[in-house]
Amino acid sequence: MKKLTGVPVSKGIGIGKAFLFLDTDFPKIPQFRIEKRQTAEEWARFLAAVHEAEEHIKSLQRAQKSLTGEDDAILNAHLLMLEDTDFHERIQKRLETNLQNIECTVRDVAQEFSQKLIASPVQYLRERAVDIADITKRLLHILLNVKKPSLADLTEDVIIVTRELLPSEAATMNRRHVKALVMGGGSRTSHTAILAKAFEIPAVFGLSGITSEVASGDTLIVDGTTGEVVIKPTAKRIEKCRMIIARAREEHGEHEALRDLPAETADGCRVILNANIEFPEEAEQVLRYGAEGIGLYRSEFLFLNAGFNAGYAEEEEQFRAYSRVLKTMGNKPVTIRTVDMGGDKIPPVFRTGEEKNPLLGVRAIRFSLAHPELFKVQLRAVLRASVFGTVKILFPMISGLTELEMALSALEEAKRECREKGQAFSGHIEAGAMIEVPSAAVIADILAEKSSFFSLGTNDLIQYALAVDRNNEQVGYLSQPFHPAVLRLIKRTIDAAHSAGIKVAMCGELAGNPSAAAVLVGLGLDEFSMSASQIPLVKQNIRRLDSETCRALAKRILTCKTVQEAEAVMKEEEGARGI
Ligand code: PEP
Ligand code: MG
Repeated sequence: MKKLTGVPVSKGIGIGKAFLFLDTDFPKIPQFRIEKRQTAEEWARFLAAVHEAEEHIKSLQRAQKSLTGEDDAILNAHLLMLEDTDFHERIQKRLETNLQNIECTVRDVAQEFSQKLIASPVQYLRERAVDIADITKRLLHILLNVKKPSLADLTEDVIIVTRELLPSEAATMNRRHVKALVMGGGSRTSHTAILAKAFEIPAVFGLSGITSEVASGDTLIVDGTTGEVVIKPTAKRIEKCRMIIARAREEHGEHEALRDLPAETADGCRVILNANIEFPEEAEQVLRYGAEGIGLYRSEFLFLNAGFNAGYAEEEEQFRAYSRVLKTMGNKPVTIRTVDMGGDKIPPVFRTGEEKNPLLGVRAIRFSLAHPELFKVQLRAVLRASVFGTVKILFPMISGLTELEMALSALEEAKRECREKGQAFSGHIEAGAMIEVPSAAVIADILAEKSSFFSLGTNDLIQYALAVDRNNEQVGYLSQPFHPAVLRLIKRTIDAAHSAGIKVAMCGELAGNPSAAAVLVGLGLDEFSMSASQIPLVKQNIRRLDSETCRALAKRILTCKTVQEAEAVMKEEEGARGI
């Protein structure tokens, strides 16, 4: 038995067999001599691999063209390289002279090609070395028949152990069979962590050496509440964990009693508790936890799902998804965030130009404004679905007034288009800005003039304000919601919104942190939106609070100079309330 401790990101305990999920970026290339008579066979394998690579690139090209109406220059270049006669001749010649297997021959010839390119004084040619690497990798994967196993095909219960799981992979895994998730990288607010919480899968991240510690088939206990991962546990340990799981089920039952009680402090200060969702089918589950609405529907996950890998979801598909959520929620409000594509959430079809800093790149509203036609497809789908309930539209990653105005004018255009087509939509749709870039918090008073509401995205607000990559476990310890700068940005946003007469929600992970509830109530936050399973805990806490004490606490916390000081004040206050 061995015990490791990582970052707990999604509560609960999972017991099961490990399934090592490793990436295949760098295939191991076997190297062996062949007989002269085998060269024809190896050459034929090469030509077949080229053909398969071409077919794959062409299908990507078709998908790309259907989106942008244009041929993708990079994919075109890859096709030309695959057909390059010089490349072919060199491979054939080397195969015949060196008598080595084709995988090895392709690698060596490609290396020579790229070394020449790298040495070129012409920048354009130097940059083509990346394309050579790309097509070589593609050819080698085909020749070696290397396929990354698909987590969508899981048929047995497993605990996934991996260095890195992309949000698109997490979105498409067969979650019925995933009992827990252990990852080498990641942090509490990475999108994969958010998905683990939405799926209620216990998860521990940030265990850097985990893939060398664990073998597929090893029994593991993963405690997503404490961050403990036990490899090959004793029978006694497993038994103890089963008892904890049974106790958690009982507590779940106790929480159900809270479902229909209002989220208000003991002295009657009422706040709204909403849920965050990533998939339409989650709407049913959030009602069971007593959500008063959906405060954040991360619509981009519709595009990260398997079916959408080949392109952008059509207007009808989007309309169906949004309508389903609105119908399920009845007259409870549903805030649909327009796609936050980019950063770590980019479907393969959009992955063309490399971005050195994707989190600071063409992400969220920038992506939508850069693809106005796609943006309007989404806005029309939301507008048409609005007749089924109460919809609010939320624009992500607004960093200045111009972006907000551009987003609002796209919405007006989409309305005009719907009217022209005789498509009905609700006359009362609020549109708001996410406050998740520090600049937006600083100019919240300016943005408030054009926003019907604000939603504080603390995951990104913390990332951008404190310069802490939310996906980098090495700096995860610096991701501090109680940093004075973060608290001041939150306060500034709430005050500016209230002065302008609009409400403020919070949909970052901080909203679901039960120990933050007192400070947030004290700061005047109107709405909290969180993973549905957190709602009972946060509600329980809020119902024990007193609004006057919360205001005094917030005032005191705002005078703290360090995170440590703020946390000490919170502990002291919790102690005074006997928690
Ligand atoms: C946030 O940034 O806090 C947020 C809610 O958005 P996301 O986590 O999807 O980036
Ligand atoms: Mg965000």
